[in-house]
Amino acid sequence: MSVLDSKVPEGPIKDKWTTYKDNINLVNPANKRKIDIIVVGTGLAGGSAAATLAEQGYNVKAYCYQDSPRRAHSIAAQGGINAAKNYMGDGDSNFRLFYDTVKGGDYRSREANVHRLAEVSGNIIDQCVAQGVPFARDYGGLLDNRSFGGVLVSRTFYAKGQTGQQLLLGAYSAMNRQIARGKIEMFNRHEMLDVVKVNGKARGIIARNLITGEIERHSAHAVVIATGGYGNVYFLSTNAMGSNATAAWKIHKKGAYFANPCYTQIHPTCIPRSGDYQSKLTLMSESLRNDGRIWVPANIEDSKAIQQGKLKPTEIAEENRDYYLERRYPAFGNLVPRDVASRAAKERCDAGYGVNKTGEAVYLDFTSAIERYGLEQAKIHGVQNASKTKITELGEAVIEEKYGNLFQMYEKIVAEDPYKTPMMIYPATHYTMGGVWVDYNLMTTVPGLYCIGEANFSDHGANRLGASALMQGLADGYFVLPYTIGDYLSDDIRTGRIPTDSPEFDAVEKEVTDRINFFINNKGTKSVDHFHKRLGKVMWDKVGMARNEKHLKEAMAEIKAIREEFWKEVKVPGDANEMNPELEKAGRVADFLELGELFAKDALDRNESCGGHYREESVVKEGEQKGEALRNDEDFAYVSAWEYKGEPSDAVLHKEELEFKDIELKQRSYK
Ligand SMILES: Cc1cc2nc3c(=O)[nH]c(=O)nc-3n(C[C@H](O)[C@H](O)[C@H](O)COP(=O)(O)OP(=O)(O)OC[C@H]3O[C@@H](n4cnc5c(N)ncnc54)[C@H](O)[C@@H]3O)c2cc1C
Repeated sequence: MSVLDSKVPEGPIKDKWTTYKDNINLVNPANKRKIDIIVVGTGLAGGSAAATLAEQGYNVKAYCYQDSPRRAHSIAAQGGINAAKNYMGDGDSNFRLFYDTVKGGDYRSREANVHRLAEVSGNIIDQCVAQGVPFARDYGGLLDNRSFGGVLVSRTFYAKGQTGQQLLLGAYSAMNRQIARGKIEMFNRHEMLDVVKVNGKARGIIARNLITGEIERHSAHAVVIATGGYGNVYFLSTNAMGSNATAAWKIHKKGAYFANPCYTQIHPTCIPRSGDYQSKLTLMSESLRNDGRIWVPANIEDSKAIQQGKLKPTEIAEENRDYYLERRYPAFGNLVPRDVASRAAKERCDAGYGVNKTGEAVYLDFTSAIERYGLEQAKIHGVQNASKTKITELGEAVIEEKYGNLFQMYEKIVAEDPYKTPMMIYPATHYTMGGVWVDYNLMTTVPGLYCIGEANFSDHGANRLGASALMQGLADGYFVLPYTIGDYLSDDIRTGRIPTDSPEFDAVEKEVTDRINFFINNKGTKSVDHFHKRLGKVMWDKVGMARNEKHLKEAMAEIKAIREEFWKEVKVPGDANEMNPELEKAGRVADFLELGELFAKDALDRNESCGGHYREESVVKEGEQKGEALRNDEDFAYVSAWEYKGEPSDAVLHKEELEFKDIELKQRSYK
């Protein structure tokens, strides 16, 4: 029998969170001092949680594998963070944010969690402003907002193209205050390699000191996993090179169910791949779609000429351009959600209209925006009969003000000036909506083991809207977990410190050490990257933007074969008792090789198209929507939560049925 209980409180949706908070058990301040909490990961989710829990009085031990929490992958977030403040007076509200997120997620998220997210979204902005996060402001000094895909209001708060960095500095300052007070013990350069359960409850972790190689035991009354997403299962992604699934996968193997692994977000605006020796892809923020127009040539001959380097985009007349998003989706145009924009780009490129050497790129063009802003500025500054050059100059200055660092980054990577020639973009793996299954309390199926931020499956359903990841990570860390964990820990006020000299710690430490010794002693011939790249290719080709039964079955078999070869042939140079990045990578890729197969199995099971998961067998066959993704609510309105049973192919499916009481289930349309 399934143990899935989402623990969603009773009552009307708008009252659930308030009623819940009014009725949970609390831990008094003196007792909080007797309780230890481990937080693994100090990106925005873990950093905000660690700071808040310590502020409340708990003893927090926090871990990250970088040399400082400031270097978490969250720092890469560019575009912004959503909140329903309605500062623009354009009709926003908590309900609209809730509605947009459920619809954007293609009706595959849990209503109660998403509503709570919308409710606390405004608090996040207040909290961050109080910390000194320098959000952009408008002329009058009020916080400015811009639009992101899939919504009809402007609710995205931003700090130039560095929103994640600024928010992380805020969370890190809050953490630092607690580190100085001794309420957070910070373990930089430590990697959690497994969780320890005592009497069924999470009571600690085994971590490796990445500088000395020492294996350490750490205990606590509860463990929080905030280790980010698993997009690097594709090898190439926009994620930081070190982003990995090890903590999430290890807790899965110890009893935490893994939900919706196949829900991955392929982001439409990334710099296209340039060759086979690349190890990373670069995102161009979605905010660029506010002003950039996406197009390919309307005539295939023009595309061919561009691919062969015989024609430039600026030489193609307006009437010979196909602004395909504006054509296909007039209501949302260039601001359709990411999954829709990515598939539309793939469709054009597959049809031969791509605009770089490989045929895998479309244009993102700022010419119209530069002209529009230039004319506006000429008016504002009273420039009479402004020349085209003057208008362009004024317009470019506005674009620079808004997106300057992104344009500079593009120019550095591609060696082309995006003010003068359209950017080239192509979809790339970016975010994983799937992750560790959690209930309303953010607790996994293991008591005392929590999961927050991108690492859990939570609020984005089958597709995340832009600027919602930061919102969710900070909601979890600042405003949700600090309440829910207290309810659980109220039972632990008399437990006392958890000893680490128990058989449970002995056993898990031995598993960890055995695996490290295997890697160091295996006399293989191939590097870890060799296997990671092969895995990534299977994932991209067969479990990528479009999936079908045949490919998914092949992918499962191929990943299994790569995994078997990995365990025979992997070569890890160096020693265990030293800093050894290859050893770190080996452990992470071993976990990706299992997760990848479960990912394909999940995609195979879900024979419907929803959000980022597009099944070629499930599309609209006739009429105006022909070829568009077709969701199947009758058979698939559930969360897939997989239980580990050894081989990934043996994982057992548990279903959390999704109820939509407050939002009507509809096929998404952005036309
Ligand atoms: C290029 C880019 C731009 C983005 N822009 C936006 C945006 O504008 N708006 C938005 O909402 N979202 C954006 N996102 C998504 C968003 O940045 C992430 O989803 C979010 O930052 C994840 O935060 P997190 O705290 O969950 O994880 P992370 O920031 O990934 O932090 C993970 C933490 O876990 C630690 N860790 C991992 N494994 C272990 C282990 N085994 N042991 C110990 N520590 C471990 C790491 O050291 C790190 O501290 C963007 C993503 C990318 C890639």
